[in-house]
Amino acid sequence: MPDASTNPDLGFASRAIHAGQAPDPTTGAVVPPIYQVSTYKQDGVGGLRGGYEYSRSANPTRTALEECIASLEGGDRGFAFASGLAGQDTLLRALIRPGDHVVVPSDAYGGTYRQFNKVFVPWGIEHDIAAIADVDAVRAAIRPGLTKVVWIETPTNPLLGIADIAALADVAHEAGVDNTFASSYLQQPLALGADVVTHSATKYAGGHSDVVGGLVVTRAGVETARGEDVTEQVAFHQNAVGGVAGPFDSWLVLRGLKTLAVRMERHCDNAEAVVEFLQGHPGVTKVHYPGLADHPNHDVAARQMTRFGGMVSFQVKGGDDVAAKVCAETELWTLGESLGGVEALIEHPGRMTHASVAGTALEVPSDLIRLSVGIEDVDDLIADLKQALDRLT
Ligand code: PLP
Repeated sequence: MPDASTNPDLGFASRAIHAGQAPDPTTGAVVPPIYQVSTYKQDGVGGLRGGYEYSRSANPTRTALEECIASLEGGDRGFAFASGLAGQDTLLRALIRPGDHVVVPSDAYGGTYRQFNKVFVPWGIEHDIAAIADVDAVRAAIRPGLTKVVWIETPTNPLLGIADIAALADVAHEAGVDNTFASSYLQQPLALGADVVTHSATKYAGGHSDVVGGLVVTRAGVETARGEDVTEQVAFHQNAVGGVAGPFDSWLVLRGLKTLAVRMERHCDNAEAVVEFLQGHPGVTKVHYPGLADHPNHDVAARQMTRFGGMVSFQVKGGDDVAAKVCAETELWTLGESLGGVEALIEHPGRMTHASVAGTALEVPSDLIRLSVGIEDVDDLIADLKQALDRLT
């Protein structure tokens, strides 16, 4: 039997537990140790042990995580960062230069749009916003010769829009997919033709709301518009920019990944039951979930995702104030930002996660509530939503 830490033929759940995680050669520890260290003894000048020199460049705990996520996404190499946005920033610096143009989704995480609009625009990057669910709209937004990246988020945050990864990869030179909402378990963008994948590891990858982190995975043989190897460019920029994940954070994300498969199945089971409840509640005017047959891109989601995920958004009668009150008056659903942890979270995107895009093309409906469906007992989750909706809508 080949070494489980490098065997690409193992199933997803086996690779999540073993890829990049051979038992420690010194002690046999079955979990990669937290190498809380900045530098490494050299055996004579330049005599590195295992290539380790300085922990910004490489650290064994981070290496374990990077090898694991590369395996889970079916990629060439993985890179771990201090946050999802740090990973996106490094990736974009590797791919684009002043004067280049990018296409940004019209429904995306507010912080992603802020990064394009407030960080990259002042550095001379132009962008157009396109409805990412509409391949023709993206094609129309591409400026021949100038567009170097089409940024794809699917499902989108917070409206659960779905982009057709394979179709967009066909029209884009560099198609970068933010796979945060689906997770590596439900969706494999590289196999669908995407060039790079990013994650906020803070969410499903970490899975326990105890770490902030980012992941980038590249595919072999992809070149930047300047003809350089994308994997080499990301590796260079990870070290040169320095926004790396620390050893303890890497260890937490790695531990989270081990249970990703079972957590995602339960998130999906619970989300489906919550969606059914919401659809039957008279105070709810619209439910956004890619698993619903009337979702505008349900067919695309069914083709490219194995299940439809744990994120659900819905709109309520009574507008902004009622939506905000519902969020504040649940007990088991914790009012808070972020998503993808074991515990159920509820939030009001218009006033919270997406407040930074108010007044832009990315503004979200003010009566929208976003749920990150946890893995608690689903009857408890539904009972708590019911008591708030019955009283307030
Ligand atoms: N992408 C998506 C879809 C997100 O939801 C988030 C954060 O909420 C990010 C990227 C940014 O990740 P981080 O908060 O880890 O920097």
